[in-house]
Formats: sequence, structure tokens, C-alpha cells
Amino acid sequence: MPAPVTIAVDRSVCIGAGQCALTAPDVFTQDDDGYGTVRPGRETAGGTMLREAVRVCPVRAITVHDARDPGA
Ligand code: SF4
Repeated sequence: MPAPVTIAVDRSVCIGAGQCALTAPDVFTQDDDGYGTVRPGRETAGGTMLREAVRVCPVRAITVHDARDPGA
């Protein structure tokens, strides 16, 4: 079973490129301003496409932490 994670998008870094929503549409969408955002209820989703979305974000705005690590 994969480790639980917490996903976040840093809006101060996001440029609204939309790659996250294209790559992992079940986890990410874009808000009214075009910023990437985690879909409600998917903040702890994991999986291969999540990792790919993190990889393709051109400004590294997406962070994924191990939810079991309170210091992460
Ligand atoms: S891929 Fe990165 S820059 Fe583009 S919308 Fe998603 S978080 Fe923002």
C-alpha cells in the first residue's frame, strides 16, 4: 500500500501552465484565475500520474509530502 501523502500547489510560484491538470486531471484542476489547484477530496491522492504531474510542472509549484511526517 502506498504511503499517504499531502499535496499542495504554491500559488505564489504557479504560472498557470495547466500541465498538472492535463497530466493528472483526477487530482488537479485550474481555478478561475488559471492557477493549478488540488481537487477537493484529492489532497491525499497518490499514484504514478501524481508523480508525473509534479515532474512536468515547469516551475516546481507542486509539493508532495509524506503525510506521516509532521515535519515535512
Ligand atoms: S503545472 Fe505547475 S505551473 Fe502549471 S498550473 Fe500546475 S502547478 Fe501551476
